[in-house]
Amino acid sequence: MPQKVVIIGSGPAGLTAGIYTSRAKLEPILIEGMQPGGQLTTTNKVENWPGDIEIMGPELMMNIKKQAKHNGCQIISDTVEKVDFSSKPYKIFTKNGKEFEAESVIIATGATHKKLHIPGEEKFWGKGVSVCATCDAPFFKDKEIIVVGGGNSAVYEIYHLANFAKKITVIHILDKLTATDPIKDEVLKNPKVEFIFNSTLTEIKGDDQKVTEVAIQNQKTKETKTLKINGIFIAIGLTPNTDIFKGQIDIDNHGFIVLTKNTKTSKNGIFAAGDVADYRYKQAITAAGLGCMAAIDCQKYLSKK
Ligand SMILES: Cc1cc2nc3c(=O)[nH]c(=O)nc-3n(C[C@H](O)[C@H](O)[C@H](O)COP(=O)(O)OP(=O)(O)OC[C@H]3O[C@@H](n4cnc5c(N)ncnc54)[C@H](O)[C@@H]3O)c2cc1C
Repeated sequence: MPQKVVIIGSGPAGLTAGIYTSRAKLEPILIEGMQPGGQLTTTNKVENWPGDIEIMGPELMMNIKKQAKHNGCQIISDTVEKVDFSSKPYKIFTKNGKEFEAESVIIATGATHKKLHIPGEEKFWGKGVSVCATCDAPFFKDKEIIVVGGGNSAVYEIYHLANFAKKITVIHILDKLTATDPIKDEVLKNPKVEFIFNSTLTEIKGDDQKVTEVAIQNQKTKETKTLKINGIFIAIGLTPNTDIFKGQIDIDNHGFIVLTKNTKTSKNGIFAAGDVADYRYKQAITAAGLGCMAAIDCQKYLSKK
């Protein structure tokens, strides 16, 4: 007998879908993937989750997981390697050699922020190294920070951060910003913002608690200098985790799952929620909201069958 619903991913979107589908008696199976709890498990303080003035990311995700399990969602520690959505029931194959059949699927595999892959980045990830100004800008009030990147998402991050930081140094590998968004002009004329072009970060240094310094290399002259700073925002893009769905459902040019209506994908009975289909908001609360919507859409789909 196929499962009524299989959820792929255990971030805010997947686990919220797990809460709703289990409370709707759909007996969901959730495959949690290689990052149980999703992106928020890589950060420290979260201050914008409604109901908690401040909560640590891993604790928040543990609470949501507990709630999903409490309602009967079956959580499986495995990763999906392949799917076959060509005919019903849909088939899901995992790394540990399991195969699931499902009448419907909720995809909540999130996205991965591109990293610099330089010394210090992992050590200070979530401790001064951030990828989300909306999430972390208030932590850098009156501080000196760096933004790495020069595209549209970088200029939005800079614009937002300029309301908080004392000084922003933008490090960009090219000789000018590549952003096309008009907000670029605001950023260029902001006296708080300085630019170092043709350059990359080569190292992030700090003490046990926080970032204190970075090394910057000019790519043309190969000259290296250090800069004392309090934080780094990496804004060089994000890759939706959709490789395994290519050729099975519609995916846009940037790798995001295309939603045809609400949380429906191009294939009947396959729904998507969270950062995997959302290039705009990329927040825990919006991912959770989309997980709820996908669960309700899925419930309606199954009830019509
Ligand atoms: C450092 C950092 C700090 C942040 N701070 C905040 C904040 O303060 N407030 C806020 O609102 N947002 C914050 N965000 C953004 C927020 O974490 C994301 O918007 C949110 O986690 C997206 O949720 P999601 O469920 O869509 O996906 P994710 O959290 O990305 O979870 C994806 C899930 O899919 C699973 N998965 C992926 N591939 C597979 C596969 N093949 N098989 C099975 N499972 C798979 C992973 O294991 C993971 O469990 C932060 C992000 C980062 C990186």
